[in-house]
Amino acid sequence: MSVSAPPEEVLDVLRRQDPQIADVLLGEARRQAETLQLIAAENFTSPAVLATLGSPLANKYAEGYPGARHHGGCEYADAAERIAVERATALFGADHANLQPHSGSSAVLAAYAALLRPGDTVLAMGLEHGGHLTHGSPANFSGRWFDFVPYGVDAETGLIDYEQVAALARHHRPTAIVCGSISYPRHPDYALFRAVADEVGAYLIADAAHPIGLVAGGAAPNPVPYADVVCATTHKVLRGPRGGMLLCRAELAERVDRAVFPFTQGGAQMHTIAAKAVALGEASTPAFTAYAHRVVEHARVLAAALAAEGFALTTGGTDTHLITADPAPLGVDGRTARARLSAAGLVLDTCALPYGDGRGIRLGTAAVTTQGMGAPEMAGIAALFTAALRDEPEETARVRAEVRQLTSSFPPYGR
Ligand SMILES: *Cc1c(COP(=O)(O)O)cnc(C)c1O
Repeated sequence: MSVSAPPEEVLDVLRRQDPQIADVLLGEARRQAETLQLIAAENFTSPAVLATLGSPLANKYAEGYPGARHHGGCEYADAAERIAVERATALFGADHANLQPHSGSSAVLAAYAALLRPGDTVLAMGLEHGGHLTHGSPANFSGRWFDFVPYGVDAETGLIDYEQVAALARHHRPTAIVCGSISYPRHPDYALFRAVADEVGAYLIADAAHPIGLVAGGAAPNPVPYADVVCATTHKVLRGPRGGMLLCRAELAERVDRAVFPFTQGGAQMHTIAAKAVALGEASTPAFTAYAHRVVEHARVLAAALAAEGFALTTGGTDTHLITADPAPLGVDGRTARARLSAAGLVLDTCALPYGDGRGIRLGTAAVTTQGMGAPEMAGIAALFTAALRDEPEETARVRAEVRQLTSSFPPYGR
């Protein structure tokens, strides 16, 4: 990538009018450029995606769908959404796509609205085992409005306990089964989930928010042939604007569309939908296929290097962009680790540990791979982790300097 972002001209306008917010944007751009973005759900969108987000389509009201809007002047909005839908259906082999969900959570809400009634029973991964808030958290609409039954991972292997999934499905006869996770580093067995759902007459909802970008690049199995509805985000490995997406079979298209608008959302965000189209165009290229495979290769290298440094990896490794680990063998818990790593310029998340006492750490390789880093850099990053966790001021300063040097060699938006 060869232009700076946000574009200098845009910043100049803002600087003159609102220096306070201009400083915030510049500070954030600098933070992203000078620290390592290892949050598994984050990435760097292309300058083309950023430009589309900042375009006049942001001004347009477009409730409804192409050809059937509640507002005038929608010819370009319609064109943008039609292109986005065509690119998504072609890329993922789906009959139908809805690009309007404002976020991954909105996509899940719409999937439930399309298939369920309040009070229905839903089988999903428990939150302590890697489920998302929308998979039955009592703090979320899902836990309030549906009766969630949690399944989990095996205590020894960390892998999904499919015998438990089948046993719970037979016992509870759920209306829907949800597969997908915020922290599972392996591929769900979609065929097996489909077989269990068929046996008990349940819908299968795949929440592929994390791996959908790997699916786009052929680096992870595609849930589309197995799930009734696939929920996704567009801003994680897929590298588009922040937002959600739904994919489904033709028979469910109308129910899914009506579940998004008018049931759970109002006007579509047309600048975001156009930016989703740009990202889907990028994701359809051989360059993106190579990127997706590199992301997984880098996660494997980083995971192996972290294991060598003493981290206890969940499931012993990864097949995806995502790594979860317990730092306890290095004498710290997840929260302490996140704070010490952050102080050294290594930005990542904590995560629940299904069977541990404390929390673990969760990280991914999507953003650093977009920056152009390779396998040698991944091995180097693992060594920086151990140094930063020692909590010695000189070591923290040394790691920070090494992170600066590394990021200046791989600037996210060129120079
Ligand atoms: C990220 C994620 C979501 C939610 O996406 P938001 O855009 O943050 O609402 C939902 N489900 C899973 C499994 C996720 O990983």
